[in-house]
Amino acid sequence: MFIDSHAHLFFKDYHNDLDEVIKRAQDNGVNYIICPGTDLPTSKQSIELAEKYEMVYACVGFHPHDAKKCEGKYLEEIERLSNHPKVVAIGEIGLDYHYNFSSPEKQREIFNQQIDIAVRRNLPIVIHSREAEDDVIKIVEQKIKENPDWKKHLKKEYDRYPTPRGVFHCFPGDSSMAWRLIRMGFYISLTGPVTYGNKPNKPNSMIEVAAKVSPEHLLLETDSPYLTPAPYRGKRNEPAYVRFIAEKIAELQGLSAEDIGRASSFGVHKLFGIGKYPEPTIAYKIRNSLYLNITIRCNADCVFCDRKGEAIVKGHNLSITKEPSVDEVIRAIGDPTQHDEIVFCGFGEPTIRLDVVKEVAKWAKEHGGKVRLNTDGHGNIINHRNIVPELVGIVDAISISLNTTDPEQYGEMMQIDGKIFFQAMVDFAKECVKNKFDVVMTIVDLDEVDELKASAFVEKEIGVKLRNRPYF
Ligand code: SF4
Ligand SMILES: [Zn+2]
Repeated sequence: MFIDSHAHLFFKDYHNDLDEVIKRAQDNGVNYIICPGTDLPTSKQSIELAEKYEMVYACVGFHPHDAKKCEGKYLEEIERLSNHPKVVAIGEIGLDYHYNFSSPEKQREIFNQQIDIAVRRNLPIVIHSREAEDDVIKIVEQKIKENPDWKKHLKKEYDRYPTPRGVFHCFPGDSSMAWRLIRMGFYISLTGPVTYGNKPNKPNSMIEVAAKVSPEHLLLETDSPYLTPAPYRGKRNEPAYVRFIAEKIAELQGLSAEDIGRASSFGVHKLFGIGKYPEPTIAYKIRNSLYLNITIRCNADCVFCDRKGEAIVKGHNLSITKEPSVDEVIRAIGDPTQHDEIVFCGFGEPTIRLDVVKEVAKWAKEHGGKVRLNTDGHGNIINHRNIVPELVGIVDAISISLNTTDPEQYGEMMQIDGKIFFQAMVDFAKECVKNKFDVVMTIVDLDEVDELKASAFVEKEIGVKLRNRPYF
């Protein structure tokens, strides 16, 4: 369920009990551990550990602290080691101006040369940055510009997001820096300090990032043996504790630790090639709700929608090639009372299959479930009649995507006739309120959408509340 994407298992802290450390990790749901080197000997040790333990993978590289030790043919040796089948990245590399154990010039020289190795070997990088973010970003940006094909061979499914090229380990910045890096193809990795809480005069930026950046872009790591999360802060860290980090992020995002683990494991798969691509699914769990993916067809084509891309939500693959029958959906649900809600929602508009929605919803209600429909609000146009009364008694709640209050912007965002469909969506929402459904309107958190205006519109015009869905 979890992947510890950064643990230095070669340190002497583990010399006496590494077998037990690995066993405890497995017992706590850790599937894989990535062990980054910090210089030449530890890079070799990381590979030895990867050879010994199936679940361990290695990275090779010189940490900025050790840049001064990197001389002669050492980098050639790193490049040679990077050919090992269990080496998944060059790392950890970067800049650390806090300690300056190596001079900043030497650090930059070695960082640059190691990114060149990653580019030649088509590998991602694991970045350590401390009080050096401006320089790190400048160097990485330049390298991407010079080498646009770095890691471009990845599966076509990954095209919507920028090519994943690395991870900022133990992320030191705030959410706006995180989004900037995500746009450059980087993952943000969070570690023990996310569990430490805010200091009186100094907010903990990792908490802010953990609350705002969606788990699709986050990796989990312990940075063992350092940075031990609460409740074991002060003791030796180990990969089994990665779940405390997942639990904290889950709490901040209103998700489950399992959701965070699944979504971030998919990130590890994309970045490092570890683990499996998830199989397509028709029923998928997020928090304690069960979502039904009954179609991938839609009457709209939203610019922010990943329906035609990889169609992955919190690590669930929604890219079905065949639409499921009523029986298949019911079988996939199992016992509806085991979930807080049964939600019709996927990368597609459920009212395109209104008959399936109605039959499954009726069955779920009869078997004690609560039912929600997530829709773009165009069901009446799609079905050429007012469908709202048909949902009474079989659906409890309806979430409708408002997207924006400006019909022109609505049309541009959804790539449809804004005037006709915006009005249809508003009328649909009013009809749902009239029929006493529990209605929520949603918008995607995009800079170009005025949230305050949307909120006021929804309360005044429709008489319900607005909910914001994160985009990044
Ligand atoms: S309405 Fe929903 S499913 Fe359809 S394109 Fe937009 S976001 Fe995707
Ligand atoms: Zn490290």
